[in-house]
Amino acid sequence: MVYIHAHPMRIIPVCFFCGFCFLPLPAQRSVPVRVQASRIMEHLSALSQYGKNPEGGVSRVAYTDADLQGREYAMQLMRDAGLEVSTDAAANIIGFRQGSDPSLKPLLVGSHIDSVPHGGNYDGDVGSLSAIEVAETLAEQHIALRHPFEVVIFENEEGGTVGSHAMSAGLEDKLLNSVSASGKTVRDGIRFLGGDPDKLHQGQRQPGSIAVYLELHIEQGGILEQEKVDIGVVEGIVGILHSDVTITGFANHAGTTPMPQRHDALLSAARFIERVNQIVTEVPGRQVGTVGWIKVHPGAYNVIPGVVTLGLELRDLDRGKILEMYNRLRSESDQIGRMNGTQFSFTDPIIVEPALTSSDMQKLIGSVAKDLGFTTKTMPSGAGHDAQEIARIGPSGMIFVPSINGISHAPKEFSRPDDIERGANVLLQTVLRFDAGR
Ligand SMILES: [Zn+2]
Repeated sequence: MVYIHAHPMRIIPVCFFCGFCFLPLPAQRSVPVRVQASRIMEHLSALSQYGKNPEGGVSRVAYTDADLQGREYAMQLMRDAGLEVSTDAAANIIGFRQGSDPSLKPLLVGSHIDSVPHGGNYDGDVGSLSAIEVAETLAEQHIALRHPFEVVIFENEEGGTVGSHAMSAGLEDKLLNSVSASGKTVRDGIRFLGGDPDKLHQGQRQPGSIAVYLELHIEQGGILEQEKVDIGVVEGIVGILHSDVTITGFANHAGTTPMPQRHDALLSAARFIERVNQIVTEVPGRQVGTVGWIKVHPGAYNVIPGVVTLGLELRDLDRGKILEMYNRLRSESDQIGRMNGTQFSFTDPIIVEPALTSSDMQKLIGSVAKDLGFTTKTMPSGAGHDAQEIARIGPSGMIFVPSINGISHAPKEFSRPDDIERGANVLLQTVLRFDAGR
């Protein structure tokens, strides 16, 4: 039997002898094509050996030997899946497969395999190995896609989505010269992985140059598991605002200064932190706000704190909402300061813009998941992903699978094989349905 491509996505078996007549063969494909979950789990377990840590997780930090070895393993899997493997100038790994219509833009599927120090075996790995599994399934089932197809494993995602940023926007010298968690600069790290930081423009892609980017990822939160939902349809990756807040009071003797005469900067900081929590939770929505660090000066038992600096972070999918919360906190800080004669000042906020996934992709992923019999929930991603960078050059879509107990960036990170299988099948069917233009 040979397969011919009679219609996009419909593969029709024809007679082996003449290669043309359809009559003698009853074997029309009736069951939708599926990934082999056992193979994904086998590959996850093999990949977890590179950089494995004693706690049962992995420390496969970008630009280390473990990263290099893990990448070699992934490249071999790609070759076994019939992909043509190369690395771009930023050292992103690209596995390419021809499409039947070369006039179409490429369909990209990917994630990353680097980890944080003392990380787990699922963040990035699930999406990368499932993307390879999609390629392997297509090859095994002799399915031709119309679009050129690329499996991309982005380098150094955990160090700030470096590889995907390079592909979609290039890298500035400041970032290239910064020292990564491996101890190497990003520039040296890219060289170490076989890239060429002097030729990054060669790997950079222009807006409108891809048909779509799809990424499967673990949720890294506990919502899907708690609500017993199979698949998260990601509506976007939240924007983040950072601002350093300095509160100036007056440092004085903690034994001799009566309570009403104090200008205690730490007391104002405490009141401010409480307000951050109240303001963020007062309005409906999934926004979050955190004071994640604090420095107290001079910092002694017997001195009333004179100066406090703290780090304010706000996240939401809606930039306007982030700014609204920030402005409200700024104006209320004046009132808080007046209560005990302290002054608040804020550094200009640094904002990482929210990145929305394509609404067409949300609909497609949602309907694919429902057709496969899975429950879905539309949700934002509170963590950053390569998809937010690639959203600059084309429509992107993200699929989440549950993280048990919401644990991530830790050795106890875990997603159940059944959940991974569901996610990988949604990824595969989304690729097929997108390619068929349905
Ligand atoms: Zn990740």
